[in-house]
Amino acid sequence: MILYAATTNPGKLREFAESASADGIGVLALPGLKEMPEPVEDALTFMGNAELKAVAYSKLAPGVMVFADDSGLEVNALGGQPGVRSARFADDLGFEPGSGTKDERNNRCVLSLLHGLEKGSAVNDRRARFVCALALARDGEILLRAEGSVEGEMIDVERGKNGFGYDPMFLIPELGLTTAELGADQKWAISHRGNAFRALLHQLKTLS
Ligand code: IMP
Repeated sequence: MILYAATTNPGKLREFAESASADGIGVLALPGLKEMPEPVEDALTFMGNAELKAVAYSKLAPGVMVFADDSGLEVNALGGQPGVRSARFADDLGFEPGSGTKDERNNRCVLSLLHGLEKGSAVNDRRARFVCALALARDGEILLRAEGSVEGEMIDVERGKNGFGYDPMFLIPELGLTTAELGADQKWAISHRGNAFRALLHQLKTLS
């Protein structure tokens, strides 16, 4: 069985493919993805965005199974923000335009909002989670959905060089490490994306 991934991110593709190969399932990049019109990710939930991408791309690749993902960070103290706006959080808030990379600005933006909250107060709840939603579709129809998450805590000083996005600020308390301090295999074993993809594969195996 072959699944086509609607992602141009080579790191994600490698992780999906390695994970699925253990179950005899192939994962390939959706051919021609870069030339396909990108749907606007305007849903209010991660699953809504994953679904709209899976539906749109699977219509453009008739007959094959296409999956799409959407993911991000939810911080308790920020009422679940940045959420579906994780990738463009600093831009949306007009935070420090033009200074540093997008990831750096997003991290500083989250930190500055957290620093605005009174230390030790009940609202300053640093618990957070990464969430990933996956949707699998064929010919514009959703076949399967899966979600995964990983719980952590936002810290003030960035740690670690691995990963991307909010990883250097996201501490896994049980490990005493941020997700930017984990190796790729270690992160996949506990991550929101790893958990969501394992759940999707489990459903696929149950069906077939
Ligand atoms: P995407 O859905 O993978 O494009 O991720 C959206 C945004 O969520 C990214 O730009 C990151 O800011 C954040 N994000 C998602 N997954 C991770 C992760 O594993 N580590 C750190 N940040 C992440």
